[in-house]
Amino acid sequence: MRLYTYFHETTDGRGPSPPHLQLLLSSPFKRFACHFLIKFTSKNNTMSSSQPATADSGYITDPGPLENTYTSDPSLQRALAWYLPSATLQSVQPHLTQFGAEAISEQVREWSADAERNVPYVKSHNVWGKRYDYDRLVTTEGWKQLGKWGARNRIVSAGYDTSLGVDRRTVQYALNYLYSPSSGLYSCPISMTDGAAFILSSRINKLPSTHPFHTAFQRLISEKDDHWTSGQWMTERAGGSDVQNTETWATYSPLVTSSGSDPLGDGDYLISGFKFFSSATDANLALLLAKTPSGKLSTFLAPLRRTVVGGDGVSRVVSNGVRIHRLKNKLGTKELPTAELELKDMRAHLIGELDQGIVTIAPLLNVTRLHTFVGSLAGWRRAISITKSFAKARTTVGEPLWLIPMHLRLLADMEVKHRGAMNLAWFTVALFGVVEDQTPSSNKLAHLPQPGKEAEVVFRTLTATAKAVISKMATAGIQECQESMGGVGYMDEADEPEFSISRILRNNAVNSIWEGTTNVLASEFVRFLIKKDNLKIFGTWLDRTLTLIQSVDLRNTLTAAWLALRARFTTQDPASTVADGRRFMFTLAWILSGALLALDTERDNDAVTAEIARRWILSAEGGVGEQVFHDIVTVSGTASATSGGEEHLQWDCRIAWGVDLPANRASGHRSLQKAGSKL
Ligand SMILES: Cc1cc2nc3c(=O)[nH]c(=O)nc-3n(C[C@H](O)[C@H](O)[C@H](O)COP(=O)(O)OP(=O)(O)OC[C@H]3O[C@@H](n4cnc5c(N)ncnc54)[C@H](O)[C@@H]3O)c2cc1C
Repeated sequence: MRLYTYFHETTDGRGPSPPHLQLLLSSPFKRFACHFLIKFTSKNNTMSSSQPATADSGYITDPGPLENTYTSDPSLQRALAWYLPSATLQSVQPHLTQFGAEAISEQVREWSADAERNVPYVKSHNVWGKRYDYDRLVTTEGWKQLGKWGARNRIVSAGYDTSLGVDRRTVQYALNYLYSPSSGLYSCPISMTDGAAFILSSRINKLPSTHPFHTAFQRLISEKDDHWTSGQWMTERAGGSDVQNTETWATYSPLVTSSGSDPLGDGDYLISGFKFFSSATDANLALLLAKTPSGKLSTFLAPLRRTVVGGDGVSRVVSNGVRIHRLKNKLGTKELPTAELELKDMRAHLIGELDQGIVTIAPLLNVTRLHTFVGSLAGWRRAISITKSFAKARTTVGEPLWLIPMHLRLLADMEVKHRGAMNLAWFTVALFGVVEDQTPSSNKLAHLPQPGKEAEVVFRTLTATAKAVISKMATAGIQECQESMGGVGYMDEADEPEFSISRILRNNAVNSIWEGTTNVLASEFVRFLIKKDNLKIFGTWLDRTLTLIQSVDLRNTLTAAWLALRARFTTQDPASTVADGRRFMFTLAWILSGALLALDTERDNDAVTAEIARRWILSAEGGVGEQVFHDIVTVSGTASATSGGEEHLQWDCRIAWGVDLPANRASGHRSLQKAGSKL
């Protein structure tokens, strides 16, 4: 079935009408375009009027409202349809649909605007100069409500819902994908809360039921208003990448008599030092690194406040040795209370083995990195939605922007890049479920690694890779969305978060820095793969996965690229390999995303997905950016015929909008417009 386009004549006889494009959708694109109905009203298409414009009259662009962020996102729906069994998908779909509607609701927008408008501040003393029992961190009602909205919608708890089995992480991160761009950055404390819950979940089974870690875990995963958040304090002035320089010290000093009322506040260690970055400063507890007298790092858990009973027998809440030195001024993430903290005799519990701090806290980083790339993708998708909504409403040179070939190509390119990154991301998320579940039955899809060592090696490689590569891609992609909206894209209206790409861009910029900079992750990635037999294990999985690709062209191109990259791993000396770490990591990300795109296509032979895969793999279009080995990521010979011209343009339209290019298309410049072809 084809797409039909109707043009209506205007009644005033001025020639071709403002087009009403009624799009009847062909079945392959129906899923992509079910909301796609574009109307150019007379008002919109009238670029100049005989009347002078005033502040309130004349031409005004009028983009439509954003659509439900779940039902309007075919990439997310494809990913979930791949990685979730249909029964699970069906059972969670009503919630995803409801959450996707709430994400763009007026209420959530107002909370988000409130969090941006009214930045947090600290009040440490009362008007008479008396220090409070603990520093008062004042956050807005909007910020608090966004936290409760997230908890109610299971953004942490779904990850610990054993009834979802191996799929619980995929469901949880789908919820976070919908939550993140509307959360006013509450997604940041949520990621650390999930990380802390993950560490506790693997340890509390060995502890007596009276141990305070049980209560802490239950509060972190609570769906009620009493839910807790957790911070993560690793970075100090001496270095965030290299935490061995930590200047925070812990001494073993158990209480002689416990408080009786606050076991979590009765930790056996006293910790003092200075933490240079704390983002979840309004958290209830924190996981932190400190050195013990051995000079080695251990991980500790401490509440930010304790309950003590005074000499008068009255209990009061006091600071647990935490002083907010100051809140930081930042480019973005302004809603987030990022602070410098001075710790003095903070009571804390050792978590994990003594002097094994990095081993203990490392799983938390895996979790926060997953949140980082899911958040990057979600912010990027929101920016694409905003810019597409604008393109539908905007006309230039008398033509609709959404159809101007160069703009169309830009939008298609954005979609190709985003889809490649989505494939890498949701594979990694699904793999998290396999690693966590560890049962042989958890491996349902042929391309997922075998549970056990193979899954662990691939997962460890991919958490660093996906976080680093997708954060970078998203920053570049969101910047492109900003430019695509012209001057309005650069506006930064706190009151209108639904149109603020600037806010998304500022907030996304930090994703390349926290939880490991790109350099640090690339170094980690290379050193991990060349250690022991990790490259062999990883290679065994990737070889097997590549053989699953049916298309000879796609398979051969990717296999040749992988063989070239693997050879480079083994022929260069370790120091040169680490120096080239970014190029190794980005090239591997390109290969993996390509393999996943090819396999995704072959699930249902979806035409748009096939073209995206072809562009990514054979034309080196889309892609992960500049930081690849350019002799490996190349244009394949078979690609040239369809790399440009009319056919490419047709596919640009299908990729960007999910519909065929209308017969009466735009040209992009008045000099190219033929009589009668003007829309
Ligand atoms: C808004 C915001 C919120 C944050 N919140 C938190 C928080 O809640 N908790 C927390 O613990 N931290 C937090 N951080 C800190 C963040 O994790 C660190 O800034 C980050 O890990 C980098 O550490 P650094 O700033 O010390 O930079 P450095 O470690 O000094 O790095 C400087 C540069 O050197 C490069 N580099 C470092 N080591 C290597 C290497 N081995 N090889 C190659 N290049 C290298 C880095 O890539 C970087 O470009 C936050 C940061 C920001 C901006």
